[in-house]
Amino acid sequence: MQTSRPDPHQDMRDALRALCTDFPDAYHRDVDARRAYPEAFVDALTKAGWMAALIPQEYGGSGLGLTEASVIMEEINRCGGNSGACHGQMYNMGTLLRHGSESQKKQYLPAIARGDLRLQSMGVTEPTTGTDTTRIKTTAVRKGDRYLINGQKVWISRIQHSDLMILLARTTPLAEVRRKSEGMSIFIVDLRDAVGNGMTVRPIPNMVNHETNELFFENLEIPAENLIGEEGTGFRYILDGLNAERTLIAAECIGDGYWFIDKVSRYVKERVVFGRPIGQNQGVQFPIAEAYIEIEAANLMRWKACELFDAHLPCGEQANMAKYLAAKASWEAANACLQFHGGFGFACEYDIERKFRETRLYQVAPISTNLILSYVAEHVLGLPRSF
Ligand SMILES: Cc1cc2nc3c(=O)[nH]c(=O)nc-3n(C[C@H](O)[C@H](O)[C@H](O)COP(=O)(O)OP(=O)(O)OC[C@H]3O[C@@H](n4cnc5c(N)ncnc54)[C@H](O)[C@@H]3O)c2cc1C
Repeated sequence: MQTSRPDPHQDMRDALRALCTDFPDAYHRDVDARRAYPEAFVDALTKAGWMAALIPQEYGGSGLGLTEASVIMEEINRCGGNSGACHGQMYNMGTLLRHGSESQKKQYLPAIARGDLRLQSMGVTEPTTGTDTTRIKTTAVRKGDRYLINGQKVWISRIQHSDLMILLARTTPLAEVRRKSEGMSIFIVDLRDAVGNGMTVRPIPNMVNHETNELFFENLEIPAENLIGEEGTGFRYILDGLNAERTLIAAECIGDGYWFIDKVSRYVKERVVFGRPIGQNQGVQFPIAEAYIEIEAANLMRWKACELFDAHLPCGEQANMAKYLAAKASWEAANACLQFHGGFGFACEYDIERKFRETRLYQVAPISTNLILSYVAEHVLGLPRSF
């Protein structure tokens, strides 16, 4: 599917597609079946410099914007892969870049750009508080030149394939802060030191081949210099990063959406039932056309969010709406693709059931559609606060 104007990112897309041809559907299918990590694929992306896209050139990266990062994520999904294996590095990077000290940036960014270190994990969600993040119970208590971490996290992804994690913890009890969003801080946790020394990891087998875990902290000690930015303002830093995360996930959903539309459009032209291609029936055409329209519309909002983000302008509204529209559109496309492949849609070798599971996640994580609707109702439309 092509838009009418020349694509300013065509060279990037061509380079990414060339890399992705070395990792065809069969590769991703096999990794999924084995519940393995696409190590070779992520290595190839890293070696080609794509995982360092957002790192400024002075730290060894290519200094690109969120717009270009979003094209990378879109192309991975559009080529049949799943950016979920590696997208964490893109938005976690932003947190370190915007709020980290010069010495933290010098310590970590060049090594990440070279591929010697991975920063793929961010620990926010907790089992007892869910989306109500300000009530997190994990605490970080300063003891001299260290912080002691205690508590629990859930659904923390890519821990086993990352060297570093950004962790959100309470540094001042909720009862002692003026506003509930205050008193939380973010830290860089070096997973190579932490695992087995106060931090325990329990993998959570799940519907998608998405490496995610429960984490338990029992007096985990981390150096005080691993605090990012000012103590007590971590929640604001996390929120800053969420706009990037939502926009990138929107781009991934758009990549999925085009993958489903291309796949089903090809199939319904070829599959003959009742003596004619099934794609000749309007009952088949319309859901496919509708999903395509929704993907194109979501894409416009994605570009708008990218443009505002890269211009350092507020983009919470657009990032949330892009994520909402794109996740919905890719899900509609997934349903049409599965439906019109009939029984074959359920066969693993067609890759539809795998992509179907993968794209379904984005209605729930990293933020549920309900919470986006609530954000727009309250913060954009000024409706009364409901929680
Ligand atoms: C595969 C996977 C990977 C993940 N990776 C990470 C990660 O790396 N790091 C991390 O920190 N987290 C991660 N998460 C967690 C994810 O961000 C949360 O699952 C998500 O934010 C929803 O939180 P919850 O599961 O606690 O749902 P809850 O907060 O319990 O909400 C459940 C449902 O209730 C509804 N709901 C809740 N509150 C309201 C309301 N006020 N109004 C209307 N509806 C409401 C929503 O539909 C929501 O889906 C991951 C999750 C999954 C499944």
